[in-house]
Amino acid sequence: MSSVTVRVPAKVNVQLSVGPLRDDGYHDLVNVFHAVSIFDEVEARESELVKVGVEGEWADQVPLDDGNLAIQAARALAKHAGRGYGVELVIRKAIPVAGGMAGGSADAAGALVACNELWGLGLPPEDLMEIAADLGSDVPFSLLGGTAVGTGRGEQLTGLETNGTFHWVFAIADGGLSTAKVYAECDRLREATGEAVGWPQVSEPLLTALRTGDAHALGAVLTNDLQPAALMLRRSLARTLETGRELGALGAIVSGSGPTCAFLAADAGHARDLAISLTASAVCHTAAPTTGPAPGAHLI
Ligand code: ATP
Repeated sequence: MSSVTVRVPAKVNVQLSVGPLRDDGYHDLVNVFHAVSIFDEVEARESELVKVGVEGEWADQVPLDDGNLAIQAARALAKHAGRGYGVELVIRKAIPVAGGMAGGSADAAGALVACNELWGLGLPPEDLMEIAADLGSDVPFSLLGGTAVGTGRGEQLTGLETNGTFHWVFAIADGGLSTAKVYAECDRLREATGEAVGWPQVSEPLLTALRTGDAHALGAVLTNDLQPAALMLRRSLARTLETGRELGALGAIVSGSGPTCAFLAADAGHARDLAISLTASAVCHTAAPTTGPAPGAHLI
């Protein structure tokens, strides 16, 4: 086999609850991940060395050195296998970079699945999940896909059964937001306002809405504790969210650490109309309709 290609989805957090800052600098999270049909492709080709190339609209914002999460994933897998394998990775990016949709994590998950296949390792999903958890808290979910509850730093995952398809619109911003800066701003805001932060709990109404496929109910209970911080760092997002609500979105939320905004629509036609209107209203770089849940990293 000289080349294999893996497709990996973006995610939105339909619930992101952030607990108090821990002594180790992390937060305990309750994170309900939902994979959506915006996919990066990761191709792995035979090579002596480990190297990466990136194609697509946002390619120039992605590092090509060891800072690339896909490279880190390939190296971690080779180390696990105990051999100095090489690979040439080609990433075709559709997921916005630093957009709060776990694009880098998706590429890391894609590289794990692709290299496992290219190198003929035959490692089971549990082993890939373990390596993924060491690479970053969103990487295991990029492998799993679908809809899942994550606890701890996000890496302890339980898959959720959902009913039917949810229709989303993602409003992609110009430029990204650093996840670390958004968490730091969240801590600063909480300290400044003296907000009492409780232990994060998964929302039962949210689980019911997902299980029953009720988009109206889901739209009403979307929550993201990082949203106030993202809005402080990027003031224009308040207008993006407001415009989506005025256009009839069932729910409007910043995706993860932002700046991408996610809007829930009633059906495919509503999502298409909402995307056209959001793009025309110039409150974002572009808006795209899509659906969830989507499958995790898979060979094509
Ligand atoms: P998350 O939602 O997991 O917080 P994000 O979607 O906001 O993350 P990413 O697209 O994963 O952000 O990128 C964050 C940073 O990681 C980028 O600014 C980039 O420098 C770096 N990076 C490393 N590898 C990649 C990759 N393969 N694709 C995108 N960014 C990468």
